[in-house]
Amino acid sequence: MLSILVQELSLERNLIMAVDTDKKNLFLHLATLMLVLMMIITTLLWWFVSPRLHEISEFLAKLSLTALRLFYLILIFSIILVYIICYTGKNILIARFAMRAIIRILYPITFNLGILFGISRDAIRESFTHFNNAFIRAVINKYDPEEILILLPHCLQNTACRIRVTVDVRNCAACGRCDIGELCELSKKYNIHMAIATGGTLARKIIVERRPKFIIAVACGRDMVEGLTEVFPIPVYGILNRQPEGPCINTRVSVEKIKTVLTDILQEHAEETR
Ligand code: SF4
Repeated sequence: MLSILVQELSLERNLIMAVDTDKKNLFLHLATLMLVLMMIITTLLWWFVSPRLHEISEFLAKLSLTALRLFYLILIFSIILVYIICYTGKNILIARFAMRAIIRILYPITFNLGILFGISRDAIRESFTHFNNAFIRAVINKYDPEEILILLPHCLQNTACRIRVTVDVRNCAACGRCDIGELCELSKKYNIHMAIATGGTLARKIIVERRPKFIIAVACGRDMVEGLTEVFPIPVYGILNRQPEGPCINTRVSVEKIKTVLTDILQEHAEETR
């Protein structure tokens, strides 16, 4: 009976995780396209200026060509590695180095050129979040409850609620008008620290104070990408909030999805709890 339950949970988890990471392809394909375009443009540029460079200094011409080759070698290597990691779900040595190159170099270029190509900011950010999640799932370990932080945005709290949950989320009366009550129960059940941040500064402060090894973050696309690129290499599993009443007001989140991530990284603990 227990094994059937575990299998069912595992199947359910895989399905949710599959849905979570399916949208990664837009970012991955766009980043690859941008890389190819960058290579073509900079190679043409170098070809145009190289006669002048050779006139100035042979050494300068060789140095610039070597630097260009090295730069693209790192990016090509990084994108191949993250493809392998995201599609196989297997961790690879220097995975974090590859991810750093993608986050610091390819993401800003992909984002800006994607907009020029008419792709919406939200679609790119959403896809990047799913790409990040696919990467994180492959490279993370299991964690103890005290090493995990659940970070929520203030807009999850119902606007009619007067309780100051930002000071201490445990003040929540679990009235059911928003998802915070259910999330409080979840954090108590798994003994995970949960905090609500009213902005980036407070989120940074919470992270500096708690020093988590793994973060489950809920946010809108813009805050999510800013946050997870800023705190890298701390692994952040990003869950985008739903906005049935528009941005920043009475937003919602799938508590089930957060539970799924928790059971994934606290598997032993979850099985004990069941
Ligand atoms: S669930 Fe908690 S935070 Fe949400 S409205 Fe009710 S008391 Fe306020």
